[in-house]
Amino acid sequence: MSDPSVRNVVIIGSGPAGLTASIYAARANLKPLCFEGFSAGGLIPGGQLMFTTEVENYPGFPDKVTGQDLMQRFRDQAEHQGTELVTSDVTKVDLSQRPFKVWVDDELTLARAVIVATGARANYVGLPNEEKLKNKGVSACAVCDGALYRGQSVAVVGGGDTAMEEATYLSGLCGSVTLIHRRDEFRASKSMIQRVLDNPRIKVLYSHVVDDVLDVSEDKVTAVVVRNVKTGDKTTVPVQALFVAIGHTPMTELFVGQLDTHPNGYLKTDPGTTRTSVSGVFAAGDVQDWTFRQAITAAGTGCMAALEAERFLAAEGHG
Ligand SMILES: Cc1cc2nc3c(=O)[nH]c(=O)nc-3n(C[C@H](O)[C@H](O)[C@H](O)COP(=O)(O)OP(=O)(O)OC[C@H]3O[C@@H](n4cnc5c(N)ncnc54)[C@H](O)[C@@H]3O)c2cc1C
Repeated sequence: MSDPSVRNVVIIGSGPAGLTASIYAARANLKPLCFEGFSAGGLIPGGQLMFTTEVENYPGFPDKVTGQDLMQRFRDQAEHQGTELVTSDVTKVDLSQRPFKVWVDDELTLARAVIVATGARANYVGLPNEEKLKNKGVSACAVCDGALYRGQSVAVVGGGDTAMEEATYLSGLCGSVTLIHRRDEFRASKSMIQRVLDNPRIKVLYSHVVDDVLDVSEDKVTAVVVRNVKTGDKTTVPVQALFVAIGHTPMTELFVGQLDTHPNGYLKTDPGTTRTSVSGVFAAGDVQDWTFRQAITAAGTGCMAALEAERFLAAEGHG
C-alpha cells in the first residue's frame, strides 16, 4: 500500500521547466506539489522571464507576449491541471534515502520523486545604473534581446565562451559590436576567439571595465563609460544596448554534496535524459543546461523530467 502522506512528485521551481513538469505530472494524475519559490537567490515565482518585458521567440505567440503574461499562463495551466502550488523557498533537502525529504523551514514534505528546476541566475557587473536600465538596453541574453537592436551599436562585456558567442551572434544583427574585457587576453576557446578577432563588425577593447551605463534620465541605454585598467583613462562609447556576458550562477546550493555537478556547478544529468546521480531525482531547465538557456528548452526538459518521473514511479507500482 502507498503511504498517502508521501507525495508522488515534488517539483522545486516554477520557471518554464518546473511549471511544464507540473503540467505533465498533473496530467499523469501524480498530484504534484510545486514549491514555486519566493525569493531564492533573487529568483521569484515564474522564474527569469518575470524580469523581462517582451518574449518574441516562444512559439505560439506571433503578437509577442510579456514574460509575466507568459509565466502566468504556464502557472494557470499547471494549477488547472491539478498541481498544488506553494509560494515558498525550499530551504533544505535530504536525498540520501527514500522517501526524499524536502523542507520549507521546519515544515517537512516526503516525496517518492523530486524534480529540480531551480534555474540559474544571470550575473551582472553590479553597477547602480545597470540595474536601473535592465530591459531598457541592459540585457543578459543576446538570443533573447539582440533582435531589438538590429542595425544598431551594442556592447558586450565578458571574456569567456559566452561573451564570444554573444558577440558573434550580435554581429549578425547589429551594426557594430564593442567587446569589452578586463584582461589583456580572452579566456575562451581558441577557435571562438579567432572567430571574434576575424569579424570586422566586432571591435575588442582589452583591459577595460565598464564603469557606468548611460542614460538613466532618458530611460534607455545611450552609452557605456569604460575605464582602461592600466591607465585609468575613461572613454564614453555610444551604444544602444549593453549585453552582460559574465556568466550565470546555477541555483544548486541546496544540492551540494547530494547531487553530482559539473565543474562549473551545473547539475549533472545522464546524456539525453533528466536523470541525476540519485535515482528518483530529475533535473530540468537551466539548472542543468548552460548551453541553450531558453524558455523553450527549459520547458522541453521539464516535460522530459515529468515523463521520466512517471515511468520511475510506475516501475515501483506508484502513481
Ligand atoms: C532578462 C532575461 C530575458 C530573457 N528572455 C528570454 C526570451 O526572450 N526567450 C527565451 O526563450 N528565454 C529568455 N530568457 C531565458 C529564460 O528566462 C530561461 O532560459 C528560463 O527561464 C529557464 O527556465 P527554468 O525553469 O530552468 O528556470 P528559471 O526561469 O530560472 O526558474 C527557476 C525557478 O526556481 C525557483 N527556485 C529557485 N530556488 C528555489 C528554491 N530553493 N525553492 C523553491 N523554488 C526555487 C525560482 O523561484 C524560479 O521560479 C531570458 C532570461 C533573462 C534573465
